[in-house]
Amino acid sequence: MEIEEFSQIIKENMSKIDIELNNVQIKQFFSYMNLLIEWNKKINLTAIIEPKEIIIKHFVDCGTIFKYIEEKDNVIDVGTGAGFPGIPIKILNNKINITLVDSLNKRINFLSEVVNELELKNVKVIHGRAEDLAQNKEYREKYDKAISRAVANLSTLSEYDLPFVKINGKMIAMKGFEIEEELSNAKKAIEILGGKIEKVEKFSLIDTENKRSIVLINKLKSTPRQYPRKAGRPSKEPIK
Ligand code: SAM
Repeated sequence: MEIEEFSQIIKENMSKIDIELNNVQIKQFFSYMNLLIEWNKKINLTAIIEPKEIIIKHFVDCGTIFKYIEEKDNVIDVGTGAGFPGIPIKILNNKINITLVDSLNKRINFLSEVVNELELKNVKVIHGRAEDLAQNKEYREKYDKAISRAVANLSTLSEYDLPFVKINGKMIAMKGFEIEEELSNAKKAIEILGGKIEKVEKFSLIDTENKRSIVLINKLKSTPRQYPRKAGRPSKEPIK
């Protein structure tokens, strides 16, 4: 796809979620898409490879949490994979500091290339597991927002994300539409970890069939020291 066509499609669809893009942002999204398509031939980054689908199901989808991020936030994206939602959020708000974390090193190499090519500043890319990093005092309770898309069930995800969040900060989880059961299974974990559900936003992604939820959790109290438990435990035995 040429940049003219790309520009028209991304502008039109971002405007449906009230985001107006400037030319720098359009160029950055265009380079990101091309890097994704190119690298995806060598390493598994995404099942979505058609340009229009990348625009809608990755870029616009991630844009749906933009309204919850404040200008100078210190943000961590846990389980970022090929950079979602962290890279689109950084492109949309270049004043934030963002840390991108993933346990798969190949994806981290890709992300370093994206950060260089797009000339993004104040981005830290870390290879590691959330459970280990959140026990490191350099990262523990240091972030205004912890964001994640498609990483784990809400109980497990709360154990990954909430320890990174400062008191009065928020965890923002991008989830599928049917989350009632997950929400009730995660209730105890969220409370133990110091959080409280603020709201659940449910919507259809612009004019598609794709239904989504965004779960916002406020961090009210410090997370007890023993959480997150050691690597692997939060997913094998979610707090119930
Ligand atoms: N967030 C991206 C997205 O929406 O496209 C990637 C989603 S992918 C299904 C889940 C990612 O989470 C994988 O890249 C995996 O390596 C990472 N992940 C899973 N558990 C993790 C953990 N405990 N710590 C760090 N990364 C983790």
